[in-house]
Amino acid sequence: MTRPARRADLQGLSGYHSSQLDVSVRLNTNESPFAPPPAFVAAWCEALSHAPLHRYPDRGATELRGAIAARLGQPAARIFPANGSNEVLQTILLTYGGTGRRALVFEPTYALHSHLARITGTAVIAGARGDDYRIDATYACDLIAREQPDIVFVCSPNNPSGTVESAETIAAIAAASTGVVIIDEAYGEFAPESALDLVTEDRGFVVTRTYSKVWSLAALRLGFAVAPTWMVEELDAVVLPYHLDVATQLAGRLALDHVDDMNARVRTLIEERERLFASLAEHTELDVVPSGANFLLFRCHGDGHAVWQGLVDRGVLIRDFSGWPGVEDCLRVTVGTREENDAFLTALADVLRESGAR
Ligand code: PMP
Repeated sequence: MTRPARRADLQGLSGYHSSQLDVSVRLNTNESPFAPPPAFVAAWCEALSHAPLHRYPDRGATELRGAIAARLGQPAARIFPANGSNEVLQTILLTYGGTGRRALVFEPTYALHSHLARITGTAVIAGARGDDYRIDATYACDLIAREQPDIVFVCSPNNPSGTVESAETIAAIAAASTGVVIIDEAYGEFAPESALDLVTEDRGFVVTRTYSKVWSLAALRLGFAVAPTWMVEELDAVVLPYHLDVATQLAGRLALDHVDDMNARVRTLIEERERLFASLAEHTELDVVPSGANFLLFRCHGDGHAVWQGLVDRGVLIRDFSGWPGVEDCLRVTVGTREENDAFLTALADVLRESGAR
C-alpha cells in the first residue's frame, strides 16, 4: 500500500473542533437558542416543495442577493453569498491569499481566520490586541505599514472576547491598508456599530455576515459578504459553480420576511447578555469582558479548566479557552434562553463555592 503524503505545509494540521458533549445545557457554539418562526419554516417548506430539484440551482442566487441587498440598502452586485460566512472567508483567501501572500490577524481572535489562511497556503502574521482585547489603531497601522499584508482580518465583535472595534480604528486600518480588509461581523447585529457603510468601490474593504446567529439558521449554512462590485465578480469566478443549493437560497430569502421576529430575538438576547454580565461581575473570583455579541468571555482567578469541568459535571457545556494564548484561564458562555442562563449561573455559583471551600 502506498499512502500519499499531504502537502508539506499541512503537516501537523488538525481540524477546527468544538466539543459536542451530550449535556442538557449547551452554551458553547454561539448559536441562537431560539428556533426560527414556524411561519418562516412553513413558507420555506412550501417553496421547497415547488422547487425543481432535478435542475441545478440559480448559480447567481439572484433573488437571494437582491433580497439581502434591499434589506441593507446596498446594490445587489455588492452581495456575495456562500455556505456560511466560513465559505465566504475561504473564497476571499482563495482569491486574494495563497502562496507568497500574507494575512494579518489580531490575536486572540476567531481561530478559523488563521486556519483558513493556512489551508489556502497563505502565511499568517500574528498581531496582538491590548489587555482590553481591543486593537490599538496606531499599533495596527504601524504593523500594516511595515508588513504590507495582502489581507487584514478584523473580527468585530471579536470572537472570543466580544469586543467591538470603534469606527475610528476600523477607518484607520482601512486607510493604512493597500490589500483586502475583512471586517468579520458574524455577530454584528448584536453590536452598536457596523462597518457596512464603509464599503466603497475604490478599495478592498469587505464586511462579512452570517445567517447562523441572529437568523437562527446555523443548520442551513448561509453567510454573505458586502464587498465592492469588482471583488464580488472576482469571488464569483473562484467559488465552485452551483455552490449554494436551492434550499439554502430559498431560506435566505424567505427569512428576510420575518425581520421583526429577528429583531425581537436580538433584543431578548442583548437583555439576557446584560443580565448575565451583571451576575458574572458579582463574582469576585472572575473578570468578565464587556461584549457586543451573543456571548461573554470571563477569566477565572485560578484554574479555568477546572471551572469548565465542574460545569460539565453539572450538565452545562460552555467553551473552554483556558489553554489558549492570550485568554489563559478564560471561558466563553453563549447567551441562551433565560432558563439556560439561569442553569449556567446556578451551576457556576456552585462550582465557585466548592472550589473556594477547598
Ligand atoms: N466568524 C466568526 C467570528 C464566527 O464566530 C463564526 C462562527 N463561529 C463564523 C464567522 C462562521 O459562521 P458561519 O460559517 O456559520 O456563517
